[in-house]
Amino acid sequence: MTTGKLFILSAPSGAGKTTLLKRVMADLPGLAFSVSHTTRLPRAGEVDGVDYHFITRDQFEAMREHGTFLEWAEVHGNLYGTSRPAVLAQLATGVDVILDIDVQGAAILRKSATIPAASLFISPPSLRELERRLRGRGTDSEETILLRLKNAKIEMEAALDYEYLIVNDRLEQAIDTLRAVVIAERSRGHRLPTGQAIEILGEL
Ligand code: ADP
Ligand code: 5GP
Repeated sequence: MTTGKLFILSAPSGAGKTTLLKRVMADLPGLAFSVSHTTRLPRAGEVDGVDYHFITRDQFEAMREHGTFLEWAEVHGNLYGTSRPAVLAQLATGVDVILDIDVQGAAILRKSATIPAASLFISPPSLRELERRLRGRGTDSEETILLRLKNAKIEMEAALDYEYLIVNDRLEQAIDTLRAVVIAERSRGHRLPTGQAIEILGEL
């Protein structure tokens, strides 16, 4: 039996999901990040096993054949997947697990619905601002930026399929909203804002 809850987060690349997550995870205990597997090459500063498990296409395909992935998708020309055993092991420890996955992966999980999940979409305030952020981040080539902007328009169409939509315009406000959603979802599950079960219920 699992005790933690899944939080599915999607956003067009550059919307600020990583920035928001880092801040909220630093504030709220009991949240764990699911480290995906990908065939994408590491960006400067990315660490294997922390940001992603960086693997080859052959390795990815072998894992996929073995049914290792809870969901997987091809995004911007690379393969990405969520390890089922890793997520189940994290949930079993009682922590809530954050999946940073694209709109295709979120749709797969929504259909299978085997694990309780809350879904959140993070949107930039505009496509112009998204472009500014992608360029400002300085981690991607011009070709990659153009591909990500093109895909952003398609990804934005899926925003209404999510339970929560957070517009990351003013950073501090978006952080507050994301934190509030996690706390509210924990309350729905009869748990404290910090994630533990409410003790008095066990005493009744
Ligand atoms: P993602 O993980 O969604 O691809 P990042 O978190 O890497 O996006 O953010 C992309 C860039 O935008 C980063 O340089 C980040 O500092 C910047 N950024 C994030 N949120 C905001 C915001 N609310 N206002 C301005 N810049 C932001
Ligand atoms: P990036 O290359 O910028 O880190 O991520 C590109 C896209 O892949 C983002 O939309 C991110 O959410 C998505 N992604 C990362 N890991 C996974 C995963 O395990 N599954 C799916 N479906 N998408 C993922």
